[in-house]
Amino acid sequence: MSALVELNSVTKIYGNKKAVDNVNLQVQEGEILALLGPNGSGKTTLLKILALLEAPTEGTIKFQGELVTEKNAEKMRTQSTLVFQRTLLFDTTVYNNVAYGLKIRKMPRNMIDAEVKKALQLVKLDGFEKRHAKKLSGGEQQRVAIARALVLKTKLLLLDEPTANLDPKNASIIEDAISTLNREYKTTIVMATHNMFQAKSLPQRVALMNEGQITETGAPAEIFGKLSKNLVRFAVLDNTFAGTAEATSAGTIIVDIGNGVQVEVTEQRQGKVSIFVNPQDIILSKHAVESSARNVLKGRVTEIKDLGSIVKLKVDVGKPFTVQVTKRSFNEMELNLGSEVYIAFKASSVQVL
Ligand code: ADP
Ligand code: MG
Repeated sequence: MSALVELNSVTKIYGNKKAVDNVNLQVQEGEILALLGPNGSGKTTLLKILALLEAPTEGTIKFQGELVTEKNAEKMRTQSTLVFQRTLLFDTTVYNNVAYGLKIRKMPRNMIDAEVKKALQLVKLDGFEKRHAKKLSGGEQQRVAIARALVLKTKLLLLDEPTANLDPKNASIIEDAISTLNREYKTTIVMATHNMFQAKSLPQRVALMNEGQITETGAPAEIFGKLSKNLVRFAVLDNTFAGTAEATSAGTIIVDIGNGVQVEVTEQRQGKVSIFVNPQDIILSKHAVESSARNVLKGRVTEIKDLGSIVKLKVDVGKPFTVQVTKRSFNEMELNLGSEVYIAFKASSVQVL
């Protein structure tokens, strides 16, 4: 593999804020690289630099071995596409949105039609050409935004938290499109995420970011397999907790994650561990129901985020857990900020990182 983009000692300063701090990074041709880090760690800024939309304050960039300068930046910029986290679609049909970049490139109409069709198939919006883009659901709009970017078939596709705030169905369609694009068209993809689960399954390589720096890079198995110090610092990510594991007589382990919160886990480990619980594996209820789930914790709702068909909640049980429920169950449970609730999950759905 050779490097498609190479950043050498790249720093970006806004005012007196170092958004990106002395980053050295090679994006290899054909790979999916995930930038994983908490909010404010510099992911978006790094993507803008890779897209050549922001010039670094210090350091240099090479694109396909050629040094990027003020003079050639505009030409080289056409080799990549960045999809922002909040994309605004044009106020017209899905077809016009996706075809836009190809029309500018003066591609013949019949070829545009075929490319638009293929791109829409990739994001499972077959036949949506004539629909009005702004009237689609949030998830569908995000899929149109991705189709609009991937139809350009640029060498490099940059995605800023492509599935943030989407329900699991829309998120998995987008994840599938990303992996198909990479496999079939060999598109190099760099995506920012703060979803640890996504970073574990989709990319070939993960770069951990913290305070503007890349603290570690490696294959997901390397990064998540060992107890990386940097990963533990990421306890700020959803449902990831550092703790100490002790064996029980039942053959499971109890992980003490602090603040009086103990989690039972089926995996066998001792000592310091990090655990992760997928929000989708947590059951939320208003009463302590009889259940086979080994972990039942009482807490209060501290945050409610309406994502359309699902609602994401933060429940403080001593430690904050992110939970998601369908809009319908949310309404049925009549939950408010401060409501007392129970969360339940199986010992076998806790992943030890
Ligand atoms: P992330 O995408 O990981 O959340 P960002 O790259 O957006 O991180 O931001 C990194 C840091 O740089 C943050 O502290 C943010 O407030 C700051 N920052 C980003 N863009 C600007 C800007 N245009 N002006 C001032 N500060 C900025
Ligand atoms: Mg960002």
